[in-house]
Amino acid sequence: MDSPYLSRLARGIEPYVPGEQPTSDGLIKLNTNENPYPPSPRVEEALRGRAARLRLYPEIDARTLREIIARREGLSPEQVFVGNGSDEVLSFCFPAFFDPEEPVRFPAVTYSFYRVYAKLFGIPYEEVPMLPGFAVDVQAMTAGRGGAILPNPNAPTSLELPLAVIEDMARAQREKGRVLVVDEAYVAFGQEPSAATLVPRYDNLLVTRTLSKAHALAGLRVGYALGQRGLIEGLLRVKDSFNSYPVDSLAIAAAAAALQDEDYFRLRRDQVVRTRDFFRQGLLERGFAVLPSSANFVFARPNFCPGRELFAALRRRNVLVRRWDAPGIEEYLRISIGTQEEMEKVLAILDEIRASSV
Ligand code: PMP
Repeated sequence: MDSPYLSRLARGIEPYVPGEQPTSDGLIKLNTNENPYPPSPRVEEALRGRAARLRLYPEIDARTLREIIARREGLSPEQVFVGNGSDEVLSFCFPAFFDPEEPVRFPAVTYSFYRVYAKLFGIPYEEVPMLPGFAVDVQAMTAGRGGAILPNPNAPTSLELPLAVIEDMARAQREKGRVLVVDEAYVAFGQEPSAATLVPRYDNLLVTRTLSKAHALAGLRVGYALGQRGLIEGLLRVKDSFNSYPVDSLAIAAAAAALQDEDYFRLRRDQVVRTRDFFRQGLLERGFAVLPSSANFVFARPNFCPGRELFAALRRRNVLVRRWDAPGIEEYLRISIGTQEEMEKVLAILDEIRASSV
């Protein structure tokens, strides 16, 4: 029973439910698209000896970190916004760019947090039905009156749209004077270049990124957005009406160190991509339907038992994956890519489950 003291808003919201974060060891944890490897060793160095400085508030607007990001992207610090995970950055997009008179559009199968933010901020939304094979209907995405938001690569499908298609969407949105937000949480694992290259040409395009996946810093909570000055100022207005310092000084130092260790980033990213391709092939050989993956996870449907049963059978064998009871995807599992050793073990466990279910 809800407390009678809650506001109508608090009573009515349906919060996003993240994947479980169990504290016990011995699990193969493939349910939240974390990186199976530790972050760059430079992160630890950057954090050492910083406790004394915690008495001070962090730098205003994380200037140092914004400069580092801007340099890497060929943009100016005024074109970079930093937040407490890309979830926070994405949440700020709703009050900053979308109005209650115009529904925001996103794909029907996508990151379910968009729906939650829309409801929280009172923005109506339209879920754009998927085309066959879980393809995004790009025409329909930009056919409404309002803004549009989508991840590229999409989650949980792992499918990626070509940069040229993103540009078409940005152009279509610009023609009617509305924003396109491209959530690039998984861009490092795909083949397409980032939409950040379009930012200098499209004043209505905002690209968000995270350090949680390819940089192995999910626990640090740092994400950022790239866009022209006007959009970044919109995000700053929302942030400064909410929390002056959402990114703490340890996070600023650690994120800066990770972003500057490009060799380490590539090494780990390539490892994850190799293991992903190996694992996907293993699933295909075992009769699963598996979408081509441009992310650090695969989206797969077993052919020997219902998705729900496989999810439970894996859980009993200490393998944690993600599954949604949502129409059209209930037979699918989203499986994050762990280490090569973990994924070999998962394939062996799948063989065991299959043998016992026939
Ligand atoms: N976008 C997508 C598509 C995601 O899957 C996630 C991870 N759950 C995020 C954004 C948020 O990542 P973070 O808040 O850790 O930056």
